[in-house]
Amino acid sequence: MIEVRNLTKAFPDGTLALNDVNVTIPDGDFVAVIGLSGAGKSTFLRCLNRLVDPTSGSILVGGQDVAPLSGRKLQLYRRTVGFVFQQFNLVTRLSVLDNVLHGRLGYHSTFSGMLGLYTEDDYARARDAIRLVGLSEKEDTRVSSLSGGQQQRVAIARAIAQDPQLMLADEPMASLDPRLSDVILGLLRGYNEEKGVSVLINIHVLEHARRYCKNFLAFNRGRLVASGPIADLTSELETEIYAGSLDAL
Ligand code: ADP
Repeated sequence: MIEVRNLTKAFPDGTLALNDVNVTIPDGDFVAVIGLSGAGKSTFLRCLNRLVDPTSGSILVGGQDVAPLSGRKLQLYRRTVGFVFQQFNLVTRLSVLDNVLHGRLGYHSTFSGMLGLYTEDDYARARDAIRLVGLSEKEDTRVSSLSGGQQQRVAIARAIAQDPQLMLADEPMASLDPRLSDVILGLLRGYNEEKGVSVLINIHVLEHARRYCKNFLAFNRGRLVASGPIADLTSELETEIYAGSLDAL
């Protein structure tokens, strides 16, 4: 379970990207994070995996407040959170297998990671993850020669190889042909259903959210303005969310 309490993020230039956000996310959820561009969706996900330092508030993940973590403790927490980026963030000159093995880096010292000293278990987990995303025959292929859709599948495999307790995806289909959305969302949902790991996905196309997600969180100008089962996301509510006419929850 994730419990976010009074989460606020002010960037140094004064932008209030998140303003007193309170929400509880049960285990095994599949959540669409929605709202206009600039509403704070990405900052919210990045606070959850601590790519961004919250200004105040707490983020309880499995009972541990991860908001104040730093140093080694932060490193240990970050390896338990998979993150799928819009732009994949892969090392394109390396093979699929090498990129997915990077998901295991958090389990090693920086030194052994740099030397590529992976264990048998790391290789087994990486190969399993590659198989899950259907790219076994591309294991030794350089990422640069793959299509965008295949590259995003590699990025999902890398996140799965981390064996995360939480999976976050920040507009993972935005750089891809819309026809590939079902592949990416299907992989994330399959992982969610098989492992019971919560997935939070920043998603633009509400049609996709309705088809794949269980619940939604809606942001407007840094505030959480609506949440609940995806079936409650009526077109009227959608209009209010995007018009900015709702009060904070
Ligand atoms: P969304 O993901 O909903 O598009 P973001 O979380 O990216 O929204 O951004 C929320 C607000 O925070 C926006 O006003 C954005 O310009 C601002 N913002 C995001 N990152 C930074 C940053 N590093 N420095 C200053 N402002 C930022």
